[in-house]
Amino acid sequence: MSNTATQIPYKIYLREDQMPAAWYNLRADMKTKPAPLLNPGTGKPMTEQELSNVFCQELARQELDGETRYIPIPDEIRNFYRMYRPSPLVRAYCLEKKLKTPAHIYYKFEGNNTSGSHKLNSAIAQAYYAKQQGLKGVTTETGAGQWGTALSMACSYLGLDCKVFMVKVSYQQKPFRREVMRTYGAEAVPSPSDTTAVGREILARYPDTTGSLGCAISEAVEAALSQPGYRYVLGSVLNQVLLHQSVIGLETKTALDEYGIKPDLVIGCAGGGSNLGGLIAPFMGERLQGKSDCRFLAVEPASCPSLTRGVFAYDFADTGRVCPLAKMYTLGSDFIPAPNHAGGLRYHGMSPILSQLYHDGFLEAVSVPQREVFQAAETFARVEGILPAPESAHAIKAAIDEALRCRDSGEAKTIVFGLTGTGYFDLVAYQRFHDGEMTDEIPSDEALARSLKKLPRV
Ligand SMILES: *Cc1c(COP(=O)(O)O)cnc(C)c1O
Repeated sequence: MSNTATQIPYKIYLREDQMPAAWYNLRADMKTKPAPLLNPGTGKPMTEQELSNVFCQELARQELDGETRYIPIPDEIRNFYRMYRPSPLVRAYCLEKKLKTPAHIYYKFEGNNTSGSHKLNSAIAQAYYAKQQGLKGVTTETGAGQWGTALSMACSYLGLDCKVFMVKVSYQQKPFRREVMRTYGAEAVPSPSDTTAVGREILARYPDTTGSLGCAISEAVEAALSQPGYRYVLGSVLNQVLLHQSVIGLETKTALDEYGIKPDLVIGCAGGGSNLGGLIAPFMGERLQGKSDCRFLAVEPASCPSLTRGVFAYDFADTGRVCPLAKMYTLGSDFIPAPNHAGGLRYHGMSPILSQLYHDGFLEAVSVPQREVFQAAETFARVEGILPAPESAHAIKAAIDEALRCRDSGEAKTIVFGLTGTGYFDLVAYQRFHDGEMTDEIPSDEALARSLKKLPRV
């Protein structure tokens, strides 16, 4: 490292004209591509035609495009990005000092917009293509509420209807997120609901269920298919979402390149994999081309450990089994994680792109219990000032652990992590942590084996 620490500012801000003009499609540089989505009826790969019954046409195309390396970002989307991008890359000097580590720590902060997370990067893209196609509106699910909020903002900006099936437990526990969505004109429905056939069926079978993402997805898909002029959109997992989120990584790389910095380790929390997939994209591209030996680490909650304890197999993307089958690390589509406080990390499967990279040894993964995560969140908030989302704090926890290893070994590694959002809507969780009421929920091997027994045979 030729730079002395003092030459690098606390925040590296890019100019607007340094924002990426195109998304980077990591699949183009993967030798082993992620496996195709399969039609659950025929077992054959989904065609663009089939996908476009559910998704917008252009998004169906992006989903299937494993070859085009750069896909231009339409001007209207770039203009929207200008409201809150480029986002800052922060050198965590205060955290380094606190940890007495020789490591250099950077974080890319995506919480600088009203939705409070990176999800807006894909929400505006998906809403834009729906509008382009002349659709009336979109339906979706939301767990913790960040995706629903982001999509509401994007839809109100473009004048589209937005119907959000919100996992019931979050709908009840997070009334404020609901109100943000309503402020942006979206309709929020607690899921499972009696407004869809699949919701009614799940309610009949499990009357006390507090809902799950898998179930809300089934309802949202059904709602889109049963109304002309509507399509379904999804905030994570899919190839198209990782594509849009590549703006995070592209900006990070431009900022680091300005100072000649090469990361040794890039860390991100992983729910469905979109922020991590976007953050690592250009760095992983270099690694796949043999131009770098940067390491990559996915951090997941011990309560929902799809990479570290799941299996790599075709599975249903949703509880109602209406979506295409995806080959991914999965805990089984029936798996309902304990109600941990990182709602954005409660999906049973992982992005097919990240799953393939993990399977091929390019990505590492670790799972962490939630009390240690909140401890890390608090340490971070006290020195860096930002109140992190519980999801983001998973990445903080792993970055701190690595920085402490550097302290012991004396290595001055460069660590970059994704700070995906802020935690203002998660203060009940912080309260539980401070009051000593938080527990670590770790599923038993038997519980995982039970849900994995129901994987589809492909
Ligand atoms: C949704 C969310 C995540 C997890 O989703 P990914 O698709 O894995 O990125 C992480 N952090 C925040 C703040 C979120 O809202």
